[in-house]
Amino acid sequence: KNPVLLEGAKTIAGEKGTIKPDGVSRQLVGKIVSRFEERGYKLVAIKSLTPSPALAKEHYSDLASRPFYAGLVKYITSGTPVVAMVWEGKDVIRQGRRIVGATNPLESDPGSVRGQYAVSVGRNLIHASDSFDAATKEIGLWFDSAELAEYEPTAWGWVMADN
Ligand code: UDP
Ligand code: MG
Repeated sequence: KNPVLLEGAKTIAGEKGTIKPDGVSRQLVGKIVSRFEERGYKLVAIKSLTPSPALAKEHYSDLASRPFYAGLVKYITSGTPVVAMVWEGKDVIRQGRRIVGATNPLESDPGSVRGQYAVSVGRNLIHASDSFDAATKEIGLWFDSAELAEYEPTAWGWVMADN
């Protein structure tokens, strides 16, 4: 069971984001993490690792029949690490997708991560879960529940208040 996802799923949910090998190699980790922090999201987990082919394949199992799947798995498992993260906060899955931008960076809003830093769909810097179910699957795949922190950032009350 995932404590993040179980807590008020309608408005507060965990989001699984992964800075891909190009993001790490291009030294954009800090800038990308800052986007989420500055918006007010809570960093629940973060780690750097080189995923195994098995992990990459399972992560992208929905895309197994697509022509770019083999290249995608090769890219993610290149040997340069990725940075896997879990973020929590109001509407974080949908807003996370907006922060990241459209899949093809040439169609991404210029204010998004992909729209600011990328030009190729095959090197688009970051993954973000696209639904609650995907986030649940991905957080379980990449993290043990003991790796998910429970704490309250000092600004949480200010960020989260609705009235
Ligand atoms: N991808 C690709 N070529 C394509 C479509 C996707 O290389 O024509 C890669 C790209 O890295 C993308 C990932 O496959 O981020 C997963 O595709 P998806 O459609 O889930 O896009 P995302 O959810 O990452 O925006
Ligand atoms: Mg996707």
